[in-house]
Amino acid sequence: MTTSGLPPSAEMLALFREVGSRLDRRGLIASNDGNLSVREADDTILVTASGSRKGYLRDEEVIRVDLDGCLCHGTLRPSSEVAMHLAIYRQRWDVCAVVHAHPPAATAFAVARFPLDHLALPELVLSLGKIPLAPFVRPGTERLGEQVAALIGTHDAVLLANHGAVTVGPDLEEAYFRMERLEHAARILIEARHLGGPHCLDPSDVE
Ligand SMILES: [Zn+2]
Repeated sequence: MTTSGLPPSAEMLALFREVGSRLDRRGLIASNDGNLSVREADDTILVTASGSRKGYLRDEEVIRVDLDGCLCHGTLRPSSEVAMHLAIYRQRWDVCAVVHAHPPAATAFAVARFPLDHLALPELVLSLGKIPLAPFVRPGTERLGEQVAALIGTHDAVLLANHGAVTVGPDLEEAYFRMERLEHAARILIEARHLGGPHCLDPSDVE
């Protein structure tokens, strides 16, 4: 059955609220930062509305668009970053959820314009690997989507220069956990720099 034109299910709304609340509680976003989306079986996309506070999402703030960004259900405008989400879904058919946030430590790497490419933590090697940095382009533009799509083909997390981070997954919870993992690794690597710099794992151990 097609869901196009239908409101999100109660289960999906609960998941958006839960993930938005976790992002907010863990300080991975501030105020109305960030955006969440999910691809449903009929290739329509549920996405948070522009300006919505993810920690306090209301039902009408999860709206449905098609892969061209045309509104299928809802009355509010989609997130200004919807073009980036759609570019990712067009690039990766295995991706069914996207989380964009401004986690402070990971965003510090992005503001300093460093990729997060220190393979110093086994958990990071196994989960995300090296995390590339997309060059700066103005938020909310089609160009940002193109830059991220160019990198997301081979990565599940990308830093956005002078902006934040984006993670993807087969579902919203997994995309969220990847954002949490990214931020945790970034915090450890910044602390390690204060202690003289992280030592990367040997290539044989990475293998
Ligand atoms: Zn942003």
